[in-house]
Amino acid sequence: HTSNTVPGHPRILALANQKGGVGKTTTAINLGTALAAIGERVLIVDLDPQGNASTGLGIDRRNRNCSTYDVLIGEAPLRDAVVVTAVPRLHIAASTMDLSGLELELGSARDRAFRLRDAIGELNNNVSPGSDYTYVLIDCPPSLNLLTVNAMAASDAILVPLQCEFFALEGLSQLLQTVEQVRSTLNPNLSIHGIVLTMFDSRNNLSNQVVADVREFMGSKVYETMIPRNVRISEAPSYGKPVLVYDLKCSGSEAYLRLATEVIQRERDLRTAH
Ligand code: ADP
Ligand code: MG
Repeated sequence: HTSNTVPGHPRILALANQKGGVGKTTTAINLGTALAAIGERVLIVDLDPQGNASTGLGIDRRNRNCSTYDVLIGEAPLRDAVVVTAVPRLHIAASTMDLSGLELELGSARDRAFRLRDAIGELNNNVSPGSDYTYVLIDCPPSLNLLTVNAMAASDAILVPLQCEFFALEGLSQLLQTVEQVRSTLNPNLSIHGIVLTMFDSRNNLSNQVVADVREFMGSKVYETMIPRNVRISEAPSYGKPVLVYDLKCSGSEAYLRLATEVIQRERDLRTAH
């Protein structure tokens, strides 16, 4: 296969930003689809109780008998929560509203922050055709809660979607602080994969100013690819389709394909650096 990752050891990336509406879910769905389209085998883990990634990929609520809640509470292995999507090589572990109660239910369980890491680890021990993923993308909720901490503890790296709007940088330092905390306690290997600017509008001066500021502040951590504001991207979820399936030729689809190429290139660079 074309992947640059070790079989049975997927690269695990969390889409995280405690702000809502910045493009985490949209990026999980469409980066996942783009990676699958160029040959990767991708699992999306929906860790948001809202379940927008699951709905956006056309997974009916009635087909979520086993969900990420059951996995994190310890009642099912991750493989039981996985369903296939209409996109070849793209699978998803769907979520339900139950997830919102998880933090209380887990109480002070000693392994509460490692539930997802351990579940993904078990998946690797049971490599079966079609589930030997090369990428796992975790769609986080809009909060720095136990669910996001589970995602960070399970991940190799964080991918941060940042919306091109006035308060884009506000909150980023808090997110980076949380990453630092997780690195020093739960997961020393955690890194920032990159920052992806979303909903970019080149005709908007503010959008251009935000891009300049973020690139100055975060340097090469910012991906070259920017995701444009594109109505096709926002229409696609209501059809239960990734934008690449809904309208392959639109600017949003093109951008997510470029982002996927860039993500894979960064993976290659990381590997040769070691
Ligand atoms: P988050 O998961 O961070 O809360 P979403 O991915 O759900 O954010 O995006 C928030 C809203 O913005 C959704 O309605 C989505 O369809 C829309 N959206 C996201 N990215 C774009 C884009 N590039 N162009 C237009 N609309 C977008
Ligand atoms: Mg979301």
